[in-house]
Amino acid sequence: MRVLLIGPPGAGKGTQAARIAAHFDLGNIATGALLREQVANGTELGQVAQEYMDRGDLVPDDLVIEMTRERMAQAAEEGGYVLDGYPRTLAQAEAAYRWAVARGIPFDLTLYFEIEEEELLARLAGRAREEHRSDDTEETVRHRLEVFAAQTHPLVDYYQRRGILVRINAVGPVDAISEQIFATLHWHKAKAMAAGVHRPEWALDATPG
Ligand code: ADP
Repeated sequence: MRVLLIGPPGAGKGTQAARIAAHFDLGNIATGALLREQVANGTELGQVAQEYMDRGDLVPDDLVIEMTRERMAQAAEEGGYVLDGYPRTLAQAEAAYRWAVARGIPFDLTLYFEIEEEELLARLAGRAREEHRSDDTEETVRHRLEVFAAQTHPLVDYYQRRGILVRINAVGPVDAISEQIFATLHWHKAKAMAAGVHRPEWALDATPG
C-alpha cells in the first residue's frame, strides 16, 4: 500500500503518519524530517535547504524529488509506505507520478487532512513552544500557510481528478482521526482485493490463519 498525506502545516500529518505506518507495517517517509536531518548533519543539501526552510518557503523541487526517490523505491519493495510532506507542488506530483508509473508502483490513495486556519494557528503556536523549531515562529507559520494554499492545495484537485483522493476530518481527538483513517484504508484494501487487482502485499494479509 502506497499512501500520500496532504494537509497544511499543523494538520497532524506527522502524528497520523507514524500511526498508519505502525498499524499497516509500512515505511514512513517524512520529507520535513529528512531535510532537518540533512541540515543537522551539515550536508550540502542541508545547507541549501536550511535557507528555504527558515523562511517557510519550499525547498526547490529538484532537490526534494531526488532526495525522496530512492526511499520510495526501497519502501515500495518492502511492502509500501506513507509519504508525509511529498509531493508538495504540482511539479513534484507530476514527477512522482511519472516516476512511480514507470516502475509499476503508482500511489494507491491520497489522504487530504481538512482543517480550519484558526485551529491551525493555535496548534502551531503550541508546537512552537514545545519543539522550538526554527520555522515555527508566528510570521513563518503564516507564510507557510500561504505557501500551502498557493502551492500545495492545488494537489487536492489533482488527486481528485486521478480518483485517489479521500478527505479526512483532521479536527477532533487524535484516536478518532486515526480510526477514521484506518477504516478508510481497510475499506480501500478490501475493495482492491475484491476487484481482483494484483496486490501481492495485500493478498498475503488476507491469508486465513
Ligand atoms: P510542516 O508540514 O509543518 O510545514 P514539515 O516538517 O513537513 O512541516 O516541513 C518543513 C519544511 O521542510 C517546509 O516548510 C519546507 O521548507 C521543507 N519541505 C518539506 N517537504 C518539502 C517538499 N516536498 N518540497 C519542498 N520543501 C519541502
